[in-house]
Amino acid sequence: MTAPFNFSAGPAMLPAEVMQQAQEEFRSWRNSGISVMEVSHRDPAFMQMAAQAEQDLRELMAIPANYQVLFMHGGGRGQFSAVPQNIAGPDDTVDYLNSGIWSDFAIREAGKYVGRVNVVGGTEQTSRGKAIQSPVSWKLSEKPAYFHYCPNETVDGIALHDIPEGISAPLVADLSSTILSEPLDVSRFGIIYAGAQKNIGPSGFAIAIIRDDLLGRAQGNTSTIMDYSVQARERSMYNTPNTFAWYLSGLVFTWLKGKGGVHTMGAINREKAALLYDYIDASDYYSNPVHPDFRSRMNVPFLLADDRQDGAFLQQAEKRGLVGLKGHRFVGGMRASIYNAMPLEGVKVLLDFMKDFEKTHA
Ligand SMILES: *Cc1c(COP(=O)(O)O)cnc(C)c1O
Repeated sequence: MTAPFNFSAGPAMLPAEVMQQAQEEFRSWRNSGISVMEVSHRDPAFMQMAAQAEQDLRELMAIPANYQVLFMHGGGRGQFSAVPQNIAGPDDTVDYLNSGIWSDFAIREAGKYVGRVNVVGGTEQTSRGKAIQSPVSWKLSEKPAYFHYCPNETVDGIALHDIPEGISAPLVADLSSTILSEPLDVSRFGIIYAGAQKNIGPSGFAIAIIRDDLLGRAQGNTSTIMDYSVQARERSMYNTPNTFAWYLSGLVFTWLKGKGGVHTMGAINREKAALLYDYIDASDYYSNPVHPDFRSRMNVPFLLADDRQDGAFLQQAEKRGLVGLKGHRFVGGMRASIYNAMPLEGVKVLLDFMKDFEKTHA
């Protein structure tokens, strides 16, 4: 049996070459006879590997020198509380754009730590589908401690492709499902964070990228492992990091560099997404509810004309080696997550299947 194409939203597929290498050195990392999971994080070989992973990520994202790169615990949602605890306090107002389900969760979490969460705006229904409200309509607050948004809403498949202009507060972005998928001007942000399991590595792990001037603002009762200043000082080893996730993420960074980095990835990702959206738009059987300007290039949700055929679609897709296509339980339908590790070939096989299914079921 050939390996399936895995369209799961997260944990998502990892590059086949990376998994192959991890398997080969699983029991004996760097010919040491022991696994990378059995090595001390203070071991010079591990420290060297960890520093190299950071260096590679810095190169891939062109992260300026005045930013810290942290390898954190607790996935994407861990950062929902880490951000307010680190750069805001009980007397502060913070601004959030509510563009979907993940933004909504982030808003609720921030409410536990700050004086006021001001939701500047959200989505709206237009004649061409669901869109994010125009920035001119956003109700920004007077002096927020920061402005938070989620450039790619993984569940809704809705994206804000342009970085908001004219926001004076530090911009904070949840890039969990879009980090490293295309070039990004990091210098525009105060904080970028991402859970690892979509475009980087294993779940439970997170990357946080923080501009230096935002360090040292943590509330007195901030959990120490979530304190950016402490983790920056300790090079993300205040306590034992997730060593395996760090190692595997490092392999993914090396793989990405070999592929040509985020510019090449961005082009391939655009091509993959366009193939799917063009076909869905041309079809009377499949539909996507999002306005073309706001469509995610990582998560492509689609509905069948008759949702009673959802079960058959998923079952037959699986027989063709296409797995993980079930939409999020909050929204139903289907969702194809096409992160960096999904080859163009996988999208083509999915398209062929969708065409066949339409022919026999429309
Ligand atoms: C998956 C995801 C999260 C949650 O990540 P966890 O690691 O499960 O906490 C947060 N934000 C976005 C945009 C996501 O896609």
